[in-house]
Amino acid sequence: MKKVVFLLVDSLMPDILEDCLRHRTVPALQFLKERGRYWSDCVTVFPTMTASVDSSLVTGVYPNLHRIPGLIWYHPQEKKIINYVNGWKCVWKLGIDQCAKNVLYNLNEKHLSNHVTTLFEELAFRGKTSASINTIIHRGPKKYRAKLPFLIRLSSKFRIQHEELSGPDVLTLGAFVPTALNEKIPQRLRRFSKFYGINDDYAVHAAKLLIESGNQPDFMLVYLPDNDHAVHKMSPAHAEGALIRADQRIQEILNTFGSWDEALKKCVFIISSDHGQTRIGNGHDYIIDLDQLLAPFHVLQLGEELQDHDLVVCNNERMAYLYPLKPGQQEKIIRQLLKESRIDLIAWKQGQGVRVKEGGSGREIYFEPDGPYRDIYGNTWAINGEWEVLDLHLNGEKVDYRDYPDALSRLYGALYSQEVPMIVITARPRYEIMTRLFPKHLKGGCHGSLHKYDSQIPLIVSGTDRSFTKPPRLIDLKQFIIDLFEAESVAP
Ligand SMILES: [Zn+2]
Repeated sequence: MKKVVFLLVDSLMPDILEDCLRHRTVPALQFLKERGRYWSDCVTVFPTMTASVDSSLVTGVYPNLHRIPGLIWYHPQEKKIINYVNGWKCVWKLGIDQCAKNVLYNLNEKHLSNHVTTLFEELAFRGKTSASINTIIHRGPKKYRAKLPFLIRLSSKFRIQHEELSGPDVLTLGAFVPTALNEKIPQRLRRFSKFYGINDDYAVHAAKLLIESGNQPDFMLVYLPDNDHAVHKMSPAHAEGALIRADQRIQEILNTFGSWDEALKKCVFIISSDHGQTRIGNGHDYIIDLDQLLAPFHVLQLGEELQDHDLVVCNNERMAYLYPLKPGQQEKIIRQLLKESRIDLIAWKQGQGVRVKEGGSGREIYFEPDGPYRDIYGNTWAINGEWEVLDLHLNGEKVDYRDYPDALSRLYGALYSQEVPMIVITARPRYEIMTRLFPKHLKGGCHGSLHKYDSQIPLIVSGTDRSFTKPPRLIDLKQFIIDLFEAESVAP
């Protein structure tokens, strides 16, 4: 029976991939695409941020069910902003120990809903072994002891030392989880300057060690983050070099099998991404300064204690969650947001559904689950108002999406990820949202929004005849992988 290798390349985008394929600069991806199937318009999760996306990839559901709203969100019971590490300035303000604890422990063991299963848990239940190589969502049946690197322990004044966390049969999280496998990876790949091992070299090294030693698990999810760093810095328009480097890493994995043909005989390869990126303009005009826009309100800022604040803002690059804290404030906040025409969409919960207004124009649409309209993914909706706001169209009998892929389910998923009042805003293409302490990406790239630039990801599946009955979304991959094992259709 074949094994399955899933390579998750952060910020891999269809346009850049296709440019590279045309220029013949990515031979490994070319080989896998030509020998398999390729989709340029697989849809990822909203917010298009790694934490919410990877939670959906591994659980197969949107945030309304797995309960990870985004990279940054507000925890009303703890009265705290939760940050799974975005930019060193934020980390510094919140405390590096808190961030490390959130991303290492709380994300998997506390925040991720227990009402959903992970792919690792489902495979273990079926007697299949699996590995999570540096993926932030890794909940599984085995227990591991995390050990924070010395610098982080020092900054936490040694309050946090060890945390027990769960994972599949094989778990790596760079230097954070000391295991026999981790010890075999050169020290230079686990240093502070190499993000403590959360880098492509480390991940590929770990995957190769597993394959070469004959210990390759049935399923292996390998997270390759380097491409994301490069696209943020260079903007998607100049990111070919980063993808060429990612391809070289993929070649190294294929080479481990003797020949690439042999690799495909032994394994199904799935290559995809967590989100795209949008090129941000050059100049201060391309930044939506939320602190300024929301100046009439008392906004809870990172690191502050909650007191008499009107609202909390959680900035996820090209989207933000706003949490009105006082009754009657929501309407005032929305009125203020509507003044900013560089805000694309403003959405909030209403009744059983979602109301969306377009920034500037104020045109609006309302939708809720279960109604006369069926979309191309098979979900049914009641829809009232101006369809242009979400660029919805009728394709025959079905609702189809253009600029905002799977917009209805994805907006609903984000707004119903928590039970408190919350407002979602997104920036128009080329713009990003700025709040105090957050990293800026002028002239570079960034993501987070509902727009197709951030939301469409490429998908390559090679080594199996199995395909999808509907246009694929990232949330469909969990069941797809389970089916690969269940149907034994991957038998050579
Ligand atoms: Zn990113």
